[in-house]
Amino acid sequence: YQLSINMTERQLFLQHIAQTSPSPLGLEINKAEGCMLWDKTGKAYIDLIAGISVCNIGHCHPAVVKAVQEQAAQYLHIMVYGEFIESPQVQYAQLLTQHLPSTLNAVYFTNSGAEATEGAMKLAKRLTNRTGMVAFNNSYHGSTQGALSVMGSEYWRNAFRPLLPHIWHENYNDDAAIQRIDENIACVIMETVQAESGIIQPNKQWIQAVQQQCNEKGVLCIVDEIQAGFGRTGSLWAFEQFNIIPDILLLGKALGGGMPLGAFIADKKIMQTLTENPVLGHITTFGGHPVSCAAGMAAMQVLLESNWIQEVKAKEKLFIERLQHPLIKSVRSAGLWIAIEFESFDMNKKMIDACIKNGLITDWFLFAPQCLRVAPPLCITEKEINEACDIIMACLKNT
Ligand code: PLP
Repeated sequence: YQLSINMTERQLFLQHIAQTSPSPLGLEINKAEGCMLWDKTGKAYIDLIAGISVCNIGHCHPAVVKAVQEQAAQYLHIMVYGEFIESPQVQYAQLLTQHLPSTLNAVYFTNSGAEATEGAMKLAKRLTNRTGMVAFNNSYHGSTQGALSVMGSEYWRNAFRPLLPHIWHENYNDDAAIQRIDENIACVIMETVQAESGIIQPNKQWIQAVQQQCNEKGVLCIVDEIQAGFGRTGSLWAFEQFNIIPDILLLGKALGGGMPLGAFIADKKIMQTLTENPVLGHITTFGGHPVSCAAGMAAMQVLLESNWIQEVKAKEKLFIERLQHPLIKSVRSAGLWIAIEFESFDMNKKMIDACIKNGLITDWFLFAPQCLRVAPPLCITEKEINEACDIIMACLKNT
């Protein structure tokens, strides 16, 4: 205890917070508002990553803070998921389903995106009585063992075997994947836009063919919009842009407005299978926590009442126009979700460090470490975009 008293918070962080990275960013943030973060010394940063696509309406929006405070004063946890009628859950499920296709009408709220993935995979197995799954290389659906089993990288899967059997990893946008979808397959799980591979968009015909094949073979099409949802790509849901309708939709991240929340959403007829054989087919204590649902609902209302989704494309264009430099190998984007590709991770890491030093928070992508992440809160202003681009260009000049 004596030792702890003399340690700085940074030392305590390294000592007592389980470490998963040899070089954590280690910023000591004191306050966050809108698109800005401030560290303990008062230094300001423009946030270009929004807590990895969580804070789509910006940090600490007053409507979200109010909803959290009011719900916290009303009740916190009162019962495990699905037994009591908790108003924040019911209200939020209604709001979500009002803005989804009519077949996505039953919401199972979870603690996280990974738990939503787990629930959806279980639901597909339970409904079809099949075990096979088709997933995609360079996709990410969470870090628990089921979600890890469908993760599209042998590097991350390998150390944790045995994982789930009967999983086929195919290449995104590859017609061979469609042939793999047959009567042995319970579900296909895919991101509408592949996030961690550095923003890879699907070919529209291909993704439609995947859904068509799923329909023909009785396979559930699970679409992960945990990062893509809530306006990030310029429409409320990215799948709208490809004219597909998921059988099961996965949401998370921005779903909770900054509080932990995930969901898998399907037709009630499909979801109903979790109620029998066995009863309680998916159990969660904290899933759909009332404070998270109240926060998420407030955030979604703010988003729907704002013009931020309509402004996404213009803001994307501004970033792309400004980010031109011989050291930038390519820029891929899907709305306010941009991967700036450099030659190597080394170069990217130097850029990330330089940006942070100069008051701009950015990061790399899990399967594309050479790409710099631009995924700011959607409320970012033109002025903030220009300031962010000024910093990136200045860092490029000096790196
Ligand atoms: N799916 C996608 C596309 C994600 O980006 C993530 C998290 O980064 C997840 C699933 C898992 O969500 P969580 O970290 O809340 O478990």
